[in-house]
Amino acid sequence: MICPKCHNENRYDALTCDFCMAPLPMTKERKLEIAKKKKIEKKAKLNKSLTKLLGLLIGLFIIVGIVVVVYLIRK
Ligand SMILES: [Zn+2]
Repeated sequence: MICPKCHNENRYDALTCDFCMAPLPMTKERKLEIAKKKKIEKKAKLNKSLTKLLGLLIGLFIIVGIVVVVYLIRK
């Protein structure tokens, strides 16, 4: 969101300008855009946590595999 007063680039959901503290206009279109971007952000976050979970599961499988192999070798 570009400030209409000083043309400073702010976060898309900023309510005031970071530079001059002027209130940024909250138009209907801007509200829609913010909602859209927040949705995309949420999706990206979910994907990230899913990837983390998958990594954790793979790590767990590897550990279980090692334990099983060690158990079989000892037998
Ligand atoms: Zn400004």
